Amino acid sequence: MDRFDISLPDDHPREECGVLGIYAPNEDVARMAFFGLFALQHRGQEAAGLAVSNGQSLRLHKDVGLVSQVFTPNVLEKMEGDYAIGHTRYSTTGSPTARNSQPFMIDTQYGPLALAHNGNLVNAGELREQLMQSGVGLTSTSDTEVMIMMLAGAKGDTWFERIKDAMQHWCGAYSLVLLTKDQVFAVRDPWGVRPLSIGMLPNGGHVAASESGALLTLGCVSIREVKPGEIVALSNTALQVNQALPPAQKSAFCTFEHVYFSRPDAYWDGRSVHSVRHRLGEELAYQEPTEGDVVIPIPDSSISAAIGYAQASGIPYNIGFIKNRYIGRTFIEPTDYLRKQGVALKYNVVEETIRDKRVVMVDDSIVRGNTTGPLIQLLRNAGASEVHVRISSPPIRHPCFLGVDMGTYEELIAAHKTVEEICQHVGADSLVYLTLERMMKAIGSQNGYCNACFTGKYPISAQNGFSKTGFENNIG
Ligand code: SF4
Repeated sequence: MDRFDISLPDDHPREECGVLGIYAPNEDVARMAFFGLFALQHRGQEAAGLAVSNGQSLRLHKDVGLVSQVFTPNVLEKMEGDYAIGHTRYSTTGSPTARNSQPFMIDTQYGPLALAHNGNLVNAGELREQLMQSGVGLTSTSDTEVMIMMLAGAKGDTWFERIKDAMQHWCGAYSLVLLTKDQVFAVRDPWGVRPLSIGMLPNGGHVAASESGALLTLGCVSIREVKPGEIVALSNTALQVNQALPPAQKSAFCTFEHVYFSRPDAYWDGRSVHSVRHRLGEELAYQEPTEGDVVIPIPDSSISAAIGYAQASGIPYNIGFIKNRYIGRTFIEPTDYLRKQGVALKYNVVEETIRDKRVVMVDDSIVRGNTTGPLIQLLRNAGASEVHVRISSPPIRHPCFLGVDMGTYEELIAAHKTVEEICQHVGADSLVYLTLERMMKAIGSQNGYCNACFTGKYPISAQNGFSKTGFENNIG
């Protein structure tokens, strides 16, 4: 069947990826991984994959599509074993094809190895060149393939040693899960850019996942984050932990996990994402008090911030938009008529809430600025007398090189327009962005976070000329 991969109107940074690792003796790990990946679906909707080991050999299944489209009961039935790693993908390096979907799997002189990665290596181009010069053929455009090939050739007697050896060459963001025939590892870069947590299963075994919400879905207890620079081997009882590299002097946790990416039930850097978003909304209300009759969120990611805004401002909170939740990423191409519907395909307005009201519309971010205007128009069509837009993060003026597709400088509206110009462009009555200082106050830390997309101060220097499809001409 031909698939049309149509992104419906959305103006958020593209989520990175979700990774999952499980060691659960005597359980149906493939089925567990399926439900774990479901809880990480919001982090990547282009492809999904799973590798399972029965202690002797690995079996891999991956394809383009949502978790529920890629895995049927038939597929899962054939994936027997005690060990598994899985991945939900949005392409941050390489184009969105099946060839680039994860996990990657290869045979090495030490046995089979599979790898799933969330993040981006900023020195991947250089490493790729070195591999190709030494005669290693590469089949994809993904930096994850570079990593698995380096692991296959790394020095050491154990996988702990070989992973540590490879980590010394990697520069950038990586939260990884690795599968060998009888081990599952979770690994996090020394800067700690992307999240990775581990929890214990009540009947024995452990799970690693990008977000703690996925661990709760599987019934995990004793949840903790993998620390920057750590390699952790999942086991039946106690975890085997190895601080392979010292944590970077200045960590670089991604602020956008708090602002938008993570589900509100997640904990990031030990902080409740919902509570942080609630405080972002409060700070936004204190920063520039606004007169209004109703506060509405853009569902779902702005709900916590809008509640915080409403409580701090005293303006009643209500539902203004209903999101067509299940449309997400569709593989059915809309007709020209439907395409012209734009954001209306995804959101309907609750007119009762809006009519004759001064609306305060809270959103978490504006990236390209192509959906805020149409959303405001929907509100005006429904009878809103004024629309005031409040954004719970600062203007995004710089691209991300650490695993998030923010778009290029040309595409980022705040890179070449002032706040006043953006306000005019989207047709709002007023527009306020949260300041960096207030955002960090709401997070509860002034240090240790990456804010490069707001400030342009990159915590890990990016290679010149790096771009999402920068490897496309180098396919081995
Ligand atoms: S640049 Fe922005 S999106 Fe990228 S890691 Fe830093 S805070 Fe996160």
